[in-house]
Amino acid sequence: MNQEYINKIKDITKYYRKYKNILELILYNYENLDFYIRIDYDSKHNKYYVHFTNLNDYQGKLDKGVLSSSFIIDEVIKSIYNDLNKLDKKEYININDTYFDYVYFHAYYNNTEYHYEYNKYTPKEIIKLNNIIRTIFLCLPHRLLYLFNELLAIENNTVSDYEYYKFFKFNLKKDNIDNLFDVNSIDEGNSYINNHQIRFLEYISPLKTYYGVLEDNIHRLHIITIYYDEKNNIMKLTCSKNEHMHCKHEYAILESIKNKKKIPFYKVRYVYKDESLLNKLTSFNNILLSIGCDNVNMNIITYEGILLKVPLKDKNGNLNFEVIEDDKDNTLSNKLNNI
Ligand SMILES: [Zn+2]
Repeated sequence: MNQEYINKIKDITKYYRKYKNILELILYNYENLDFYIRIDYDSKHNKYYVHFTNLNDYQGKLDKGVLSSSFIIDEVIKSIYNDLNKLDKKEYININDTYFDYVYFHAYYNNTEYHYEYNKYTPKEIIKLNNIIRTIFLCLPHRLLYLFNELLAIENNTVSDYEYYKFFKFNLKKDNIDNLFDVNSIDEGNSYINNHQIRFLEYISPLKTYYGVLEDNIHRLHIITIYYDEKNNIMKLTCSKNEHMHCKHEYAILESIKNKKKIPFYKVRYVYKDESLLNKLTSFNNILLSIGCDNVNMNIITYEGILLKVPLKDKNGNLNFEVIEDDKDNTLSNKLNNI
């Protein structure tokens, strides 16, 4: 966790100093949130509260716009204490050197300290901690439940769903992309670059998305989309043939983006003559990204990152497409003129 956030937590701790702190839970860089949750005891009124804040909202002034709290009934506290007693390990620290998904848990009860730090999912060794996290989240607004579902993903065997749709914080200018990939992906990704296997790569700014097409060693095409919000440093990577997060194809595209490489797509417009095709194509914008054509079909890359083959001609033999942007040799226009 960086110093700025450590200082923010210190400020909040100071703010609540009249209470006795029982428990702290920090989710740092977790699903783009930096969440600080604490349970405090107010001895004057003999009441417990859960206080929580998104640390990103705190920019120098602590007030009700930043801090939220709710009262917790005694039964809930009893259940948390009960679950703390059942934990086998009092301390567990296993943090990877990654940019995201840091979880910190600290509790103090019955002269015993409980201290756990890990990334993303609650590790099996301390899986009983999930009972407590579940209880805490039930005291929080329901819109935060998705975070808790992710923390518990291992328990529910749903990890892959969360991996695939993941947005994360990343600064393309400052952060090292090597930290996102394993060594093999980096080696093989570099060999794609050196062998000029990237066919197309272009940033479509209204969609804040880079589209890349890479041809692998057995001539299969991989379509890589990289969403990148430069202002807020938020990224999401997907690859069309990828079962796991962060593959070698994504590395090759990301590394090329860093090196300012650009290989524009052909841009074509679908000329609406065939009503049945029109219905299929209504989800497209007027301008379509193309990687070229064969004698029958135009190969379109949809904005969802899917390769779609659309017939070049309608049933009367008229061309369905006009070329909006070609390469410098007019490759696509020449090919269409000869069909
Ligand atoms: Zn891939």
